[in-house]
Amino acid sequence: MAKLKVNGDSPDGLKLAANFWKGIGSPKEFAKQSVFEDWSHRLEKLAHKVSLPYSQFRWFIIWCTRLPDDDGAAYGNTFTARNLRVAKNPMGSLEKQFATTYHEIFLPQADKLVGLLQDRVQREQDDRSRTAAPKRITYYDLCISDPQNPLAWEVEKARWLTAIDERFPLLEPAPGEEIEDWVYRMFLPFRASREWRCNKCVYGVGEDGDLDERVKWCEDCGDELRIDMADDMEELEEVPVVSWLTLEWT
Ligand SMILES: [Zn+2]
Repeated sequence: MAKLKVNGDSPDGLKLAANFWKGIGSPKEFAKQSVFEDWSHRLEKLAHKVSLPYSQFRWFIIWCTRLPDDDGAAYGNTFTARNLRVAKNPMGSLEKQFATTYHEIFLPQADKLVGLLQDRVQREQDDRSRTAAPKRITYYDLCISDPQNPLAWEVEKARWLTAIDERFPLLEPAPGEEIEDWVYRMFLPFRASREWRCNKCVYGVGEDGDLDERVKWCEDCGDELRIDMADDMEELEEVPVVSWLTLEWT
């Protein structure tokens, strides 16, 4: 038997059959070309009965086969989702309860239901594509210009860079860790010195209105500050201050 494959270009009926099959938990015993073709016609007939195009009828199928989420939130119709799963003949079962399920349960609340369901399914798809980690780029990808015919020095360069990276890894947040949490964690050992206060300096409301700022420096702290500033100035003096960009103006 040819391998069963349904994709975006398949006929609508077949796509509905695939939606239905996936919806009821992808049971192996129905994963057959003959079953899918049979379901395809029967689902098209149901869609036709209520004059819905594929794009809309599809959401009815997703709705009536969707079990509640782990947290109990029901975006689908739990009753049909459960009994279609256990039915020996799921398509027959759907047909039998179709009129009631569609007209009495789905239709009256469809506007609200389908919007919520679509948002939810979209979010799940986003999450799935996010958790698929991108392929890691290596130094071999970067350094080697022709992978079919790599130059010896390129391979050697890549090997060196890889070794250096392994020896001195770049720091990065743990998986799932927010960047701010990571920075906080890295600087935790220095927190004590950041929170240190001189008991001779005066703290109060700063010029910018910040509370608890050092507003008056004691002799010792003042000296230290002046020494730091003098060092900075010395360094600055060694750097040429006139750049080629501004020469023309003088
Ligand atoms: Zn001080």
